[in-house]
Amino acid sequence: MAITVVVTGSTSGIGFGIAKGFAGKGANIVMNGFGKPEDIEAKKKELEDAGSGKVLYHAADMTKPEEIADMIATAEKTFGGIDVLVNNAGIQHVAPVEEFPIEKWNMIIAINLSSSFHTISAAVPGMKKKGKGRIINIASAHGLVASPFKSAYVAAKHGILGLTKTVALELAEHGVTVNAICPGYVLTPLVEAQIPDTAKARNMTEEQVKKEVILEAQPTKEFVTVEQIAALAQYLASDDAKQITGTHISMDGGWTAK
Ligand code: NAD
Repeated sequence: MAITVVVTGSTSGIGFGIAKGFAGKGANIVMNGFGKPEDIEAKKKELEDAGSGKVLYHAADMTKPEEIADMIATAEKTFGGIDVLVNNAGIQHVAPVEEFPIEKWNMIIAINLSSSFHTISAAVPGMKKKGKGRIINIASAHGLVASPFKSAYVAAKHGILGLTKTVALELAEHGVTVNAICPGYVLTPLVEAQIPDTAKARNMTEEQVKKEVILEAQPTKEFVTVEQIAALAQYLASDDAKQITGTHISMDGGWTAK
């Protein structure tokens, strides 16, 4: 029987890559995130063409707990349960702490941290009942180390690692593992969008930011790809990874080894 995978923020970037990886193995996918209806429809078709089971799009806004609860309930009702929950939705804002807009702080904490609490608390009863489940939180190298001008993002990503460990302990005897993936830089719209702001904050050109800030962080001097992250997510969802819980796996080209 096809497994069911919910991926938040899967209309773009890493989330879409993870959804496509699971789709390629025949999984049912609950796709979520923002986008124009025609773009979402095209992405949905791409997942189906990759070999997915049924693809359900749910537009839950990750800042709205009641919409998140509805997404989880709809997934369970449609597919009879959730096997893998991937908390991936995330945004970024780059500014010095004393100029950091309060509404941006609140949004980043809501989307990058609190939404995972809401999806997890809604999905856990179903997973406990099945005695099986996988929760994968997409954190970041910024869950382990900091960079200037990213106070909200770094705080949220450090927080998600704490949530990962806590819930892993709570579910350890229920057949449910909870882990985080900490990617380094992946060239997605999220990274592309922060280049101009970083350039402004650091008084650099955009080209300098790519070379001297972004790839400077990664000893391999290469971006991580969404396909590599998707493969790791599939491994964490496999039976072979049953004893991996309450931890993170870095995929950051050596960034956090420094
Ligand atoms: P992206 O901008 O390409 O995709 C973000 C997704 O989240 C989109 O589908 C968007 O619609 C969705 N989203 C944003 N706000 C939402 C909301 N309120 N409700 C529902 N969905 C919402 O970004 P990405 O680079 O693919 O990032 C995905 C995750 O990976 C994020 O958590 C990010 O922090 C993390 N990450 C990214 C990188 C990187 O270099 N790109 C590195 C480490 C970690």
